[in-house]
Amino acid sequence: MGLILSEITVTTMPISKAPTRLTKSVGTMEKAEESEENRAHLKSVPSAPPSKIANQTDIISILIAGTLHKCKNEWFAIAYDRDMPPEKPQWAELFTEVVTSGLCTGCAACVIVCPHDVLGYNDAGGAYKPFHFDIDGGTADCTHGQRGCTLCTRACPRFRNWESEIDTFLFGRERKDEEISGISQEVILARAVDPDLVQVGQDGGLVSAILVYALENDKIDAALVSGLEGDGSTWKAVPQVARSRQDVINTAGSRYTYSANTLGYKEATDGGAERIALVGMGCQASAPGAMSAKKAGKTARRFVLNIGLLCSKTFDDAIFKELFEDRYKIQRENIKKMNIKGVFQIWCHDGSYHEVPLKEAHGWTREGCKNCPDFASEHADISTGGIGEFQDWTLTVVRTDRGRELIEEMKGKGVIETRPGTDDPGAIALMNKLAKVSRKRWPETAVAAPRRIPVA
Ligand SMILES: Cc1cc2nc3c(=O)[nH]c(=O)nc-3n(C[C@H](O)[C@H](O)[C@H](O)COP(=O)(O)OP(=O)(O)OC[C@H]3O[C@@H](n4cnc5c(N)ncnc54)[C@H](O)[C@@H]3O)c2cc1C
Ligand code: SF4
Ligand code: SF4
Repeated sequence: MGLILSEITVTTMPISKAPTRLTKSVGTMEKAEESEENRAHLKSVPSAPPSKIANQTDIISILIAGTLHKCKNEWFAIAYDRDMPPEKPQWAELFTEVVTSGLCTGCAACVIVCPHDVLGYNDAGGAYKPFHFDIDGGTADCTHGQRGCTLCTRACPRFRNWESEIDTFLFGRERKDEEISGISQEVILARAVDPDLVQVGQDGGLVSAILVYALENDKIDAALVSGLEGDGSTWKAVPQVARSRQDVINTAGSRYTYSANTLGYKEATDGGAERIALVGMGCQASAPGAMSAKKAGKTARRFVLNIGLLCSKTFDDAIFKELFEDRYKIQRENIKKMNIKGVFQIWCHDGSYHEVPLKEAHGWTREGCKNCPDFASEHADISTGGIGEFQDWTLTVVRTDRGRELIEEMKGKGVIETRPGTDDPGAIALMNKLAKVSRKRWPETAVAAPRRIPVA
């Protein structure tokens, strides 16, 4: 049972005057009930002076109809100062319910679908968040949204009932409790046959083999992947567009900082791409499904292949300076390759090898990962990971018919080899265990589905 607003003292202010960073943590929120009574009450109380709200530090509650905050034992409500039909949620709702509530992963799906070019993306200083330019409604609202545009909320893989909607669209049903790592057809081990792709791949080079095969067999025009900026010496991961085997090779392997690969969409379509593959962690792999489930126009139709990467977190870029350089004296320009296998493994150009305990790295966990419930990239066609006892094989979760047909075709043509997942039951058990851990992160106050798997 949520809060009844009439039983506590609340004051309101126009959403346009709300401070842009309203929430830091959604850890122990009390949630107000989404009822007509509460909505009516929220609208009936007088406005609070903005200064009272701007200084708040202990924000613990969010109300869908507006936002409700407890600060130093006083309650403040920020109510919308206009009526918005619930079936037309737009940037104002995305801003309060996802971007500033702690649910936003920074996947950038909202940015790439916006037809009015009023959304930007901030990847400076570890922010990795979308923002509304200070035009056409300001940072917390959107005049196009007020006139009925809802595309950003329809693309967002964290908005309201996202998980159930995408499950139902992709698989025709919601997941069952025992489907801890999402709905799938089979789990196998796979790797590229081409030794060059095994060599550059993080694990078995399967992702690279799929992209090369799809590009060379006229299945896709481009793939949205991630590379390193410049000559790679800064280790800043950036979205890139791969159109050839060489592009795929140049961008193979894993970086453990964030890259919103979706942002390559404009470059790909400007270059004429109509059929696009997306490679990304679960936060991004859910984007095409969200767009398709909620009919977000031609952007959704262009994503014809969706390759997911298993992921429990990414790190702030500051980890290179503050942990690797300052504490371990590993200069980032000397780093050749990284992997995470219980520890951070770091190979350097000078031939040295280092291990950094993962527990030391947790302090640099990216903000957008802290509430993410999706370890196993659960809305991809094919999800891939590196856990398990076999080096140079990719743990592969085949989820959709599209994914299964592609794997079968590639196997038939001899470009990949596979073995049953039962060869490494420990890998599957570990995937399910890590999936459970991630699902516990989803806030209890947000919609229930992503926490519904029994996690005790
Ligand atoms: C941030 C991150 C965290 C991961 N965490 C885990 C984990 O906890 N457990 C696990 O089993 N597996 C994890 N993986 C997946 C694993 O590292 C491999 O990517 C996966 O096994 C596929 O290997 P491959 O050899 O088939 O891929 P490759 O052929 O090497 O292709 C990898 C693809 O990933 C893209 N990529 C690389 N870095 C990024 C990035 N930062 N953002 C977006 N795309 C990127 C590349 O551009 C390339 O297209 C993680 C991957 C990433 C990027
Ligand atoms: S989760 Fe992705 S789509 Fe949703 S608001 Fe954040 S960046 Fe935009
Ligand atoms: S944990 Fe991985 S999948 Fe989740 S938000 Fe972070 S980068 Fe995305």
